[in-house]
Amino acid sequence: MSQAATNFYKVDRRAIDFTLWEHLRVQQLFELPAFSHLGRDECSQVIDAAERFALEVLGPLNGVADRSGCTLRDGQVVTPPGFKDAWERIHELGILSFAASQEDGGFGGPHVIAVQVAELLSGGNTSWNMYPDLTRGNFEVIAKFGLPEQKARFLPHMISGRFSGTMCLSEPHAGSDVGSARTSAKQIEGNLYSITGTKCWISAGDHDMAENVIHLVLARIEGAPAGTKGLSLFIVPKFWVEEDGSLSGSNDVVTASIEHKLGIRASATAVLNFGESGKCRGFLVGGQPHMGIRQMFLLMNSARIGVGVQGVSVASTAYLNALGYARQRQQGSSAKHFKDPSAPRVPIIEHADVRRMLIDMKAKVEGMRTLALKLCLHQDLAHAHAHDQGKAQFHASQVDLLTPILKSYCSDQAFRVAETAIQTYGGAGYVQDNPVEQYLRDAKIFSIYEGTNHIQAADLVARKLMQNGGAGFGAYVKEISDFTDAHGKDHGLAAEVRALAAASTALQAAAGQLMDFFTNGNVDQVMLVANSFLEMMAEVTIAHLLLDAAVVADARRGDEDLTADDFAFYGGKITAAKHYANYVLPGVHAKLAAMQSADRSVLDLPDAGFSTAH
Ligand SMILES: Cc1cc2nc3c(=O)[nH]c(=O)nc-3n(C[C@H](O)[C@H](O)[C@H](O)COP(=O)(O)OP(=O)(O)OC[C@H]3O[C@@H](n4cnc5c(N)ncnc54)[C@H](O)[C@@H]3O)c2cc1C
Repeated sequence: MSQAATNFYKVDRRAIDFTLWEHLRVQQLFELPAFSHLGRDECSQVIDAAERFALEVLGPLNGVADRSGCTLRDGQVVTPPGFKDAWERIHELGILSFAASQEDGGFGGPHVIAVQVAELLSGGNTSWNMYPDLTRGNFEVIAKFGLPEQKARFLPHMISGRFSGTMCLSEPHAGSDVGSARTSAKQIEGNLYSITGTKCWISAGDHDMAENVIHLVLARIEGAPAGTKGLSLFIVPKFWVEEDGSLSGSNDVVTASIEHKLGIRASATAVLNFGESGKCRGFLVGGQPHMGIRQMFLLMNSARIGVGVQGVSVASTAYLNALGYARQRQQGSSAKHFKDPSAPRVPIIEHADVRRMLIDMKAKVEGMRTLALKLCLHQDLAHAHAHDQGKAQFHASQVDLLTPILKSYCSDQAFRVAETAIQTYGGAGYVQDNPVEQYLRDAKIFSIYEGTNHIQAADLVARKLMQNGGAGFGAYVKEISDFTDAHGKDHGLAAEVRALAAASTALQAAAGQLMDFFTNGNVDQVMLVANSFLEMMAEVTIAHLLLDAAVVADARRGDEDLTADDFAFYGGKITAAKHYANYVLPGVHAKLAAMQSADRSVLDLPDAGFSTAH
């Protein structure tokens, strides 16, 4: 069987709707003036449209596009068959601009719904969704920081799909170390600059779906200081855009090559040369020099949330495919009859170890989705309470704190869930007849781009944890202790809730240990354990969210008129939470013990100690 044109994408809409409407109660937003123009029906229709599009249009293109990839012909990237048609159709649907403000041409909808849409589109076809995702991030930067004439020149064409967008930070020698970028800018007049340099690994850097590609380029204006503080941000179109939106020829942006890579093969990853002939022009964003990194941070933060959501999307469809396979694959007999060679063969879902893999994937997928949606709900609440400083600050602090966790945990776990999905299939998972090997390859990049996962961990421990005197972390811990105080007794889940309380205490001890390392000047030791701290915090967060969902599900199980499916569904929520609390959460204590050992021997090891081989 070939994977060509087969739709392997799977969605659990019941699980999504539970998280949105029963658990997080997103409908609370519609009572606030910022979102009172919308209701649950409109939001559900947008999600319905995204789900249909992902299943009917994007899913069938996923495997085929992985095989064909993109090609560079005569300096122009050609995307796989069907990509351009999908681009046109999604813009006709108009769902991509749902969360953009009404004044910028959008619907002013909540991010929490837009991010659910993004999960569906990315799950259907991760490569294809890179193009609109980057365009959305680019749009947000121009909308927030652009001058009125810059907005008028570019934004309407990005909403309509005529133009797409990119983010151009990386250079061959400047990946994590963005501040060493060498691309330069020289003023022509006013906010118009001449741009020269090479950017590499630029996603959606060129393609044939839109008429034009609008690059946001970090560059250093001649004479600006070294490091990130000397960087400025420029809007650099591939084809020059006149004031009325018409195009007037090449802007001297050359696609030098595209990468051949492990996964997301249909997302063009380009090396771009700006100003090879000295004729590349760009507009300084907002007319503000040296503000590039601050402006780009908006895009990076939104892209980091986007990458976390990519993780959820791939993990979810990998899990659901593995589940479908486990239900129908017959192999072996029940362990109860292990001495009887004539015992009937059973579907592998009946084997304890397969059940372990399935519940592990389910708990992670549903916990990660809840984290993504909750973070975006905080974003929406911060916006809706902008007039109330206390509330706005609380919600914004949770967005700041949870963003590196969402990005890192969901990207790491997407890869592991995809691996577990392959293991569940056995040999059938390793071959291309089934989609899970592609999911594994596609997921690997999530832990690398948008700031590697270690860069996220460093951001968490060195910046976010102590931001505003640790107020955000304090509020985070309090929310968990309020929950464990309320449910740690007299509840079917009390033992697991108490395990969460103990893990949260361990997390606070780990934060104290980090502060000790800092105080004693052992910054390198902080960085040695930063990823481990982030994972501890992610595990505590996911356990909290799963248990909170299980408490809701447990209450719903008492409802009259529940169907057998509903009863099983709510039972699945409770089992997933118990599994995570009993089998994953204890790892938090092991990580604390490792941290408290304060073993720094690897830091003091001479390089030759790793190996004397050359
Ligand atoms: C498919 C793909 C798409 C991409 N899309 C884009 C895009 O659209 N736009 C864009 O600008 N870039 C893009 N990138 C580039 C991407 O963001 C970088 O690869 C990433 O930032 C890491 O940089 P690097 O590859 O140079 O690795 P390096 O920075 O060299 O890192 C290598 C290793 O060293 C570690 N490391 C580096 N510095 C430190 C430090 N100070 N402390 C501790 N550890 C450190 C890293 O964590 C990593 O493990 C893309 C890359 C790929 C592969």
